Amino acid sequence: MKRKDFLKSLALLPLAGFAMNLNNLNLLTDPFENTAKMPVLFVGHGSPMNAIEINEFSLEWQKLSKSLPKPNAILCISAHWETKGTFVTAMEKPQTIHDFGGFPQALFDVQYLAPGSPELADKTKNMVAKTDVGLDENWGLDHGAWSVIRVMYPEADIPVIQMSLDYFQNPQYHYDLARELAELRNKGVLVIGSGNMVHNLRAVDWSKPHHGFDWAQEANEKFKKLILANDHQQLINYKTLGREVELSVPTPEHYLPLLYALALKTGNEEISFFNDKCVMGSLNMTSVRIG
Ligand code: ZN
Repeated sequence: MKRKDFLKSLALLPLAGFAMNLNNLNLLTDPFENTAKMPVLFVGHGSPMNAIEINEFSLEWQKLSKSLPKPNAILCISAHWETKGTFVTAMEKPQTIHDFGGFPQALFDVQYLAPGSPELADKTKNMVAKTDVGLDENWGLDHGAWSVIRVMYPEADIPVIQMSLDYFQNPQYHYDLARELAELRNKGVLVIGSGNMVHNLRAVDWSKPHHGFDWAQEANEKFKKLILANDHQQLINYKTLGREVELSVPTPEHYLPLLYALALKTGNEEISFFNDKCVMGSLNMTSVRIG
């Protein structure tokens, strides 16, 4: 039951329904204190190897975490969790999911044992009116989440939950859904969208580890320009942005986490980019900090 509906039912129901509804009273108490508004991130995660390599990207993630207020919890929208409907992970102890193949054993050995937060999962569910967000007990942390968060917070002492991407929905839907999460920023929750704006795996060129094709560079510049101009509508309608964007976003899942981050921007908040670079011809690592 949504909080709004619950309040309505409290007003309408006679005493007979009250005992049952007492169980829902915990929805009205808020374990999360108000905090200063947390920044929001979109992080280009790139290769899972960034989780265990010390390189220019992972060094930037380390630096970034030191410049942020310590979060009470993290909500990650990862490119690697697509579902029918929207879910949040609600288990106490999320497992580390090794959702990739062909990498060294050291990467499969990684266990990132940050706790979950059933409370934050509930809170997130109850904030969203647009859809009925499901509470998931089976997922955990996929590499879109842990490869980045492990580098940022190696002590694994901050609770992490994930929100899935509903692959049946259009970009506008994702943006509007994300807007409903705005209050989390005032509760010390660090929202991280994890994907890659330019992500065309079929076109990857191993001979270009530090460069992008012309179209990848052009798309990277176009995205940054629109982000700085707060032109979210064009970014939502990315399919109309031309050939370079078409090549850069052949499937939506690595792009959509960017929309989640942008939807949480308010007013004149500062925007900065980090890891602004194309790699392997057809990927970019360009990442965004808001606030
Ligand atoms: Zn990925």
